[in-house]
Amino acid sequence: MASINDKPDLVLHICCAPDEAWGIQALKEDYNLHCFFCNPNIDTEVEYKLRLVEAENVARHYNVPFSSDKYDPQSWEQCIGPYAHTPEGGDRCRECFLLRLRRTAVHCKETGYDSFSTVMSVSPHKSISMLNETGAEAASGSGIKYRCFDLKKKDGFRKSILLSKELGLYRQNYCGCRLSKKEREIREGKKKFPSPLPC
Ligand code: SF4
Repeated sequence: MASINDKPDLVLHICCAPDEAWGIQALKEDYNLHCFFCNPNIDTEVEYKLRLVEAENVARHYNVPFSSDKYDPQSWEQCIGPYAHTPEGGDRCRECFLLRLRRTAVHCKETGYDSFSTVMSVSPHKSISMLNETGAEAASGSGIKYRCFDLKKKDGFRKSILLSKELGLYRQNYCGCRLSKKEREIREGKKKFPSPLPC
């Protein structure tokens, strides 16, 4: 795809509006960005639509082109199936990253872009080495380049929170999938009913 200026093009995988806002702020001076929302992991469809609309609004605010993948939760269920028993941060997240980044690489190829990255690295809960490994794996053999950024650096996570407040964005309280929602409910339950002190 022909660049409109000297900057390289970059497809930015978007997981949610708060991470997107900081990702755009951090990269827009150096790249011609194109946001791509691809999250078959999100439970439920209502939640998916809410996050999608917020992400579209952020792209519009920064005047960045935006597109989205179809909502296909079955593909996520199939891909994490053997790892559904693993906790957040483990193999199920690796498969979840890989699914979304593979689809982003395909989108890149179909639309004529030659590199992509993700704003998931804004989150301190996501392993940067796991993100970079799965990004490279998603790109391998496709002729598309995965660009590694650690967007939580330079206080990125705090800045994403501040931007969310400034722009009035919805901030979800679980990562996205049904399992992360359940894990969050268990954590919340433990806070409400702490274990009795040993006597
Ligand atoms: S916790 Fe987040 S990254 Fe991990 S499988 Fe669920 S949605 Fe995907």
